[in-house]
Amino acid sequence: MNRRDWLRGASMLAGAALQRGVVPAAPAEAPVKGRPCALALEDFQPKSMLKVKETHVPRAKFPVIDFHTHLSHSARTVNGVAMVSARTYASPPAPLVAVMDRKNIRTMVNLTGGYGEGLRETIAKYDRAYPGRFVTFTEPCYEFWREPKYTQIQADAIARAHQDGARGLKILKTLGLYLRENITTGKLVRVDDPRFDPMWDACGQLGMPVAIHVADPEAFFLPTDRFNERYEELSHHPDWSFYGRDFPTVAEILEARNRILARHPKTNFVVLHVGNHAEDLGDVTACLDRFPNMHVDLAARIGELGRQPRTARKFFDKYQDRIVLGTDATPHGDSYPQQVFNDRLYEIYYRFLETDDEYFDYAPSDIPPQGRWRIYGIDLSETILRKVYHENAARQLGMNA
Ligand SMILES: [Zn+2]
Repeated sequence: MNRRDWLRGASMLAGAALQRGVVPAAPAEAPVKGRPCALALEDFQPKSMLKVKETHVPRAKFPVIDFHTHLSHSARTVNGVAMVSARTYASPPAPLVAVMDRKNIRTMVNLTGGYGEGLRETIAKYDRAYPGRFVTFTEPCYEFWREPKYTQIQADAIARAHQDGARGLKILKTLGLYLRENITTGKLVRVDDPRFDPMWDACGQLGMPVAIHVADPEAFFLPTDRFNERYEELSHHPDWSFYGRDFPTVAEILEARNRILARHPKTNFVVLHVGNHAEDLGDVTACLDRFPNMHVDLAARIGELGRQPRTARKFFDKYQDRIVLGTDATPHGDSYPQQVFNDRLYEIYYRFLETDDEYFDYAPSDIPPQGRWRIYGIDLSETILRKVYHENAARQLGMNA
């Protein structure tokens, strides 16, 4: 077999594997002298030969509020839509507090607190058991979406959640990509559907920030093929692909989000995952300039920021008052290492923000889980670190800095 034949065979294998949603296994071929043996992508684990500075940052330089974590989840989800108030819990609070103390994390914000009885239970289990260490957000109760008075029911639910102790509202990408007119079937509901307008206003009136995740990385909306920079990630999680079918484009979703930001100027939005457009900081910059009520977090996107360190550093300089630290940390989230809650995850975030180290892993994983690249630290000043680590989040949450 010559090299061209081998490449053709490999691409056919990749095509067949794509249809099955798996990464192809190595073809059984013995190495031939003078020619490297075929190697499956998933088996490729190159070790960098660079000799560069490696800084271990076991604790953040200043106390941290992690604005984006997931400690509780809906006990029943159908086609991406939470259908019950009841919760499941990723971990009891005590083991989390031990890691938090080691890593200098003052507070974790559990965004997915749900609503109703499940929300009250979550707040009792974390926030009330460890005052100051946990903060919980509420979520929309889509199970009532088809009720004729949903608009009012939802606005009232925000007020009730506030009384129960919720400190903000979380929007999962359910809105825009999963919620449909008949909840799980029918036409997709648009992010800027006017039936949610009283909900956004209620958050503004009650001083509850909205942590909003809409869309996803741009590569998730493209074919899972050899040109896709997240090919391996999408192969491991084929359900994360929003390519084709009736899904809107990323641009359409972000434009709909922008119309909400414009329509509700008194409501503060923390647009998660670097404004849900970490690949295009030019666009995020334009949005931050246009919408004074917009803020961003970093969760699960240091892989994007850290491979454009000069642009990212300028971004932090310019928007130092509007960026909060978030990680998406999920206890036992081992199948997505970029957000698994553990000591190593936080050490990577701190190294990225505090050092000028070069070419290091963005996730605690042998193979980079989101794409085959490494990152560079952006060496922020102490003033900016304090703001990003806790001052900006404290202001959003009405806590003492
Ligand atoms: Zn998240």
